[in-house]
Amino acid sequence: MKFSRMFIPTTKETPKDASLPSHQYLVRGGFVNQVGAGIYNFMPLGKIVLEKIRNLVKSELDHAGCNEVQLGFVTPIELWEQSGRASKMGLEMLRIKDRKGGNFVLSPTNEEAMVELVKNRVTSYKDLPLNLYQINTKFRDEGRPRFGLLRGREFLMKDGYSFHESEEDMIREFHLMEETYKKIFTRLGLDFRVVEADSGAIGGSGSKEFHVLANSGEDTLVVCKNCDYAANIEAAKRKPKEIKGKREKVKEKVLTPNVTSIEDVSKFLDVEPSQTIKAVIKKAIYEDTQKVAVFFVRGDDELEETKASNSVDALELIDANEEDIKNAGLVAGYVGLFDLPKDVVCVIDNELKDEDNLICGANEENYHLTGISLKDLVDGKYDDLVVVQEGDKCVCCGGELTHTKGIEVGHIFQLGTKYSASMNANFLDRNGKARPFIMGTYGIGVSRLISAVIEQHHDDKGMIWTKETAPFTVDIIVSNAKNEDEMSFANHLYDALHKFKIETILDDRIDARYGFKMGDFELIGFPYGVIVGKKLDDGIVEIVDRKTLQKIEVQKHEVVSKLMELIG
Ligand code: ATP
Ligand code: MG
Repeated sequence: MKFSRMFIPTTKETPKDASLPSHQYLVRGGFVNQVGAGIYNFMPLGKIVLEKIRNLVKSELDHAGCNEVQLGFVTPIELWEQSGRASKMGLEMLRIKDRKGGNFVLSPTNEEAMVELVKNRVTSYKDLPLNLYQINTKFRDEGRPRFGLLRGREFLMKDGYSFHESEEDMIREFHLMEETYKKIFTRLGLDFRVVEADSGAIGGSGSKEFHVLANSGEDTLVVCKNCDYAANIEAAKRKPKEIKGKREKVKEKVLTPNVTSIEDVSKFLDVEPSQTIKAVIKKAIYEDTQKVAVFFVRGDDELEETKASNSVDALELIDANEEDIKNAGLVAGYVGLFDLPKDVVCVIDNELKDEDNLICGANEENYHLTGISLKDLVDGKYDDLVVVQEGDKCVCCGGELTHTKGIEVGHIFQLGTKYSASMNANFLDRNGKARPFIMGTYGIGVSRLISAVIEQHHDDKGMIWTKETAPFTVDIIVSNAKNEDEMSFANHLYDALHKFKIETILDDRIDARYGFKMGDFELIGFPYGVIVGKKLDDGIVEIVDRKTLQKIEVQKHEVVSKLMELIG
């Protein structure tokens, strides 16, 4: 490809809202441009990278036995009603009406549509297993679209769905997909971790996420320093904390005027915060109702909202305001475990189970209870509610846990029969009995990966594409395109590299100066540049490595072999 023939509108201007390097450079390098909040056009270079990632994903999936299909981007709402998700998807799912008043959605994911495709077409265990995927546009009306392609509203996703006759076979496929995803992300040149995850609105039992490690990542990961354990903070576990130094307190109600925070309570009663119980009050939002919910965790722990939301099966949790708290019959600052108003939903952290000699609010203004025992509580509902902190102990090996940041680029789920059962999608098993398919589902953020590569591979001059993602591997930079010798050698080299299937762009722009061309080379981030300049008279050109920006001089007849050696 000749630079002069390509539409690459590079610019020095950084979009106002672009805080991350990937967002800034992809816009400045002329890869993408924003049309509306979270909606992007792909210009030629962006499109090349998108296709490269798509093809790489496709080649590994096809190799693993998956079949590519393509479903309609617009799906009828009836499908979502059948699965029961029409009311669960919330505002992220964009609904539209056609001219006849029919209701449709812009697909945010496609479990229902894929089940519908397979239903009544795959009828016997003999046709199983089957793994179908598509690489297709998705739309999610994200509350905060941001960071360019990292969190778009319209984006490209690979979504796959597998169908099995048994749980075991689904788990086998789940492992195969995990291995396949690892190959994909390794080939893309990414440093990533596979972590235990929360299953979110998609549902199902086991799920794992694939995270590209980057400080700009929106997710916090909990990682063990000693073993392989890694989990999204939303799903992370720890070894229960050992509580030492509890002070003996008698069981009584004590006057604690204006003592409402954990810090104040522990000071006032002269105990460690870990001997107190913290009440976190939230409003749990359901399909058609809202309830005030109180979550109890140890005084020195924090509430993990996703865990808390899952524990009460809510669509989401929001903060409860003063009025909500009062209307629910609660006394802010003095909420405790015993004698809570009946309508209030209450969940207690697992680690508090059977503990005694603790302190909590008395559900009465200005009073706390000391010396309480959880054993005295009848019908308490327990669940894992706490944020795993740095320094906590690993649930697998007891090693020290730390936090790191990640960008979620893939998510695989052991789904079970959630969709097949609700949508009546059955097959005949070996005994001739009709049973719902056991399913798995597997996603990759294809367009998000473009940004993820750049978050991990850039410097203060621009992007640095990895081998498999680079729009072109070599940029031949002709210092002075009016010089016939330089142009003639550059064309000759361009043809030679083409013959060896090395993807090359020739910067033949007549009106652009050398410095400008180098600037574009650095910003756009082609892995190698070949500078054809004045030294050509002595038979010499230079190869620049974009990663190190180091230049080496090479005899002109040795350029091709040297490049082949570097590219490997
Ligand atoms: P997130 O927590 O980042 O919103 P998710 O858990 O909602 O992601 P999934 O439903 O698992 O995402 O979707 C599969 C993949 O699609 C994700 O792993 C991610 O890489 C990608 N993805 C999800 N939402 C977006 C988005 N708004 N923009 C770009 N890619 C996305
Ligand atoms: Mg999401």
